Amino acid sequence: MNKKNVTWRAFKMYYGFWPSYFPLKASVILLNKFSPYFNLWMSAEIVTALYQGRERKEIFLLVAVVLLGNLFLRVGEAFLGRNAQSALEKLENHQAAAFYRKTLSLDYDKLEDPRVRLLRRKIRENSWINGYGVEHMRWRVEELISSVAELVFSAVLVTEMLTLMAKSSFRWEGVLFFLLIVGSVVLAVVFQAVNDRKLAKYVDEVGELMLRENQFSAGTRVTGMDNRIYRQQELLDRLEKKLLEEHLKVFTKSCSMKFRASVPRYVFSRLARLSASLLICLYCIRGFFPIGSVIKYVGYLGRTVESVKSLFFCISQLKSNERFLETWLEYFDIENEMYQGSLAVEKRSDGQFEIAFRNVSFCYAGSDTCALKNINLNLRPGERLAVVGMNGSGKTTFIKLLCRLYDPTEGEVILNDFNVRKYDYRQYLDLFSVVFQDYNLLQVPLGNNVASAAEWDEEKAVRLLERTGFGERYAKMPKGLETPLYKSFDEDGVNISGGEAQKIALARALYRDASFIILDEPTAALDPIAESEIYSRFDEIVGNRTAIYISHRLSSCRFCDRIAVFDRGEIVQLGTHEELLADEQGKYHELWYAQAQYYR
Ligand code: ADP
Repeated sequence: MNKKNVTWRAFKMYYGFWPSYFPLKASVILLNKFSPYFNLWMSAEIVTALYQGRERKEIFLLVAVVLLGNLFLRVGEAFLGRNAQSALEKLENHQAAAFYRKTLSLDYDKLEDPRVRLLRRKIRENSWINGYGVEHMRWRVEELISSVAELVFSAVLVTEMLTLMAKSSFRWEGVLFFLLIVGSVVLAVVFQAVNDRKLAKYVDEVGELMLRENQFSAGTRVTGMDNRIYRQQELLDRLEKKLLEEHLKVFTKSCSMKFRASVPRYVFSRLARLSASLLICLYCIRGFFPIGSVIKYVGYLGRTVESVKSLFFCISQLKSNERFLETWLEYFDIENEMYQGSLAVEKRSDGQFEIAFRNVSFCYAGSDTCALKNINLNLRPGERLAVVGMNGSGKTTFIKLLCRLYDPTEGEVILNDFNVRKYDYRQYLDLFSVVFQDYNLLQVPLGNNVASAAEWDEEKAVRLLERTGFGERYAKMPKGLETPLYKSFDEDGVNISGGEAQKIALARALYRDASFIILDEPTAALDPIAESEIYSRFDEIVGNRTAIYISHRLSSCRFCDRIAVFDRGEIVQLGTHEELLADEQGKYHELWYAQAQYYR
């Protein structure tokens, strides 16, 4: 990644998520910063007017200007502030949405890549710890605007003061004091910058520890049944205590470092302010400045010193935040590499699509052995194919290749004479309905879940729910398809059992009207009666789609036209149940009798 201009690149991107935010915020800051200068200026005018014994009318007029000016500034600040706040909400929402969209648009193999996962986790952790990353950049940019505004306003007064100083006969003492002020500010800034660099290292260390702590909390559900039965709390407490001790050590180190750096920083910045005040008092005593100006000059010179310090502080903080922005940009920079063709998938109402695997092998990145080896298989339109095999034999990988979540390392997958890579990816994906083993239902109304869309066809959704055996439960749902699933976000939501969820997932797959339906252990959570009901109506449920059915229960594969037996990444047998069982040396025979002995 180009490490130059990291902050600028990140800022441009972040700004673009809601472009009105920064101008609005800058306006609020300008009004806010102008206010004390205005008051200082006007107070000086009033004191001088009183000192010179000017007319009451004139003094009242000055007071009226102060009051009206303040009213205008406050109202303006409040109005713009409210708009800036709502713009910030939008900016943050759009930022989070962009991150989420990026994750969803990644090639599946990228999404699963451990390096990409780590990157994603790091971004989250960095933001949790002191908001490092884009939030940190936003705070610092706001402070930067604020310091620059303060310097610009004070420049008017600086010019006035310097002009008076230059005219006085006290010039050299003035220069000396100025050097003292500038030197102190520079030293305060240098101490801050060195400290910031060192502290960033600790943020990394704390981040690592938090990653590990989160690992525990993710696996520790206080209400978890396993935790109670196996009394895991004691073990987890001990592991967590160890991590907390490490965390505390790093935290204490970083605190003492912060403290050590704060002492010289404080001393030098006080010295700068003190020198500034002394300088002004001396000029005043000597009669070079009018008496009213003392308030004005002391006030603003102090603020100038602070804003110069803060300006450099922001720059130094932006610099140490760069490494966190790099991680953020790196994630957005990940490019999809999966080739996406443009060939349209033919629209066929008869669903006559034929898919063939030709010498397909697939190896996961970083793995020595291939998960699939030289697979050759033709999926005939409308057939029911069962896929069986032991754990780790490659069944799920085969399905992932079929749905083009991955591309083969060798060989090709063909759809109606063309390599699937040539087809429009979305159109190709639309051919499939899948109930994955670890399927996911959303915590939204049942209708949205079944249709996987904002709108649903009520008659179709209810018909499919009944067909998958959810009818009885559906009849008890008070709000029908409007009933939210689960209670996390909605008190009216209903909790459903694993078996019920599986029936909904099956209805969702059928609702899609895809040409291929893939069911990975679709009845694992069903009771035997519900399971046998699904099998007896399998043809009715699946219709004329091509069905691929993965199951460990071999007896449930008998109704399929063919059975493919996977073993260590290869298809070792392919045929009907009877044909496969007849081969006494075959894997299917072994698997069948291993299960069958319990039913005899
Ligand atoms: P099955 O579905 O038959 O249980 P899989 O297709 O899930 O088998 O796995 C086949 C092999 O690939 C196994 O050895 C498994 O450990 C490996 N594997 C599965 N997923 C990944 C992954 N994301 N990264 C690396 N290896 C994987």
